[in-house]
Amino acid sequence: LETRSGLHHLLVRATPRGEGSGAVLVIHDVTEVRRLETVRRDFVANVSHELRTPVSIIQANTETLLAGALDEPAQARRFLDAVRRNAERLGQLISDLLDISRIEAGKYAIEMRPLSVASVARSVNKAVAEACRRRGVVLEVDIEPELQVRADAGALEQVLINLVENAVKYGPEGGLVELAAREDGAAVRIEVRDEGPGIAPDHRKRVFERFYRVDPGRSRHMGGTGLGLAIVKNLTDVMGGDVGVTPREPTGSIFWLSLGRVTEDDNSTHQASGGN
Ligand code: ADP
Repeated sequence: LETRSGLHHLLVRATPRGEGSGAVLVIHDVTEVRRLETVRRDFVANVSHELRTPVSIIQANTETLLAGALDEPAQARRFLDAVRRNAERLGQLISDLLDISRIEAGKYAIEMRPLSVASVARSVNKAVAEACRRRGVVLEVDIEPELQVRADAGALEQVLINLVENAVKYGPEGGLVELAAREDGAAVRIEVRDEGPGIAPDHRKRVFERFYRVDPGRSRHMGGTGLGLAIVKNLTDVMGGDVGVTPREPTGSIFWLSLGRVTEDDNSTHQASGGN
């Protein structure tokens, strides 16, 4: 059966003899089922590949240590350092994968409530302080104190941490990262701006896909799992917001986030009705 949306699978099941003359027609949309199956298979293949690399490095290094490198302190330190780095990477990968599966299974408990953007930004600032210090990056925050969004505190914080960490990671050492927010009609637009290499137009949509990297070597070298922006996109969707990236002049990226704004009126209405 050919329809406009592609090839469909036709299944005609006749009712057993003697129970009337009816037939049951079941139409499955095989196109969508196949697409989801491909997405799932690609994901499993990607996860397996991403997990295998650090495991192989850990195995090879421990074997070299046991084969004698342990007796050479300088060498031993180098091998052990690689073991530690790759164990950390495995840990990060597993925790990102758990986050993604929890969000996609609808098990990420979300509590949408009015939040002060400036106060969320303060928590983000604390969480990224060490990453900024390591790369000598200054994070400048420019947010009006009274600006409020309707969002989940944990999810919004996670989204902004991922975006700022990327800005720190892909921007130059000693550079500047800006976290700004402003009123935008019925929404609040939050921006994370960096001075990095920017993202070419054909990569811009795809960077939010799981494991998509513009430069895989650089991403892995910087400790990236390739899942940070997929988590950003999923959490933003769950909060009913929008996210995207635009180029910055003369260089760099602006990752933007749009979420519902809470007005003074909303706040007083909620208080009047008992805070719900
Ligand atoms: P990763 O763990 O690789 O950083 P992400 O999902 O966070 O994974 O990002 C996906 C890819 O998008 C990165 O590998 C990188 O190529 C690109 N990217 C993300 N943020 C930036 C940025 N601020 N500047 C330039 N490229 C970026």
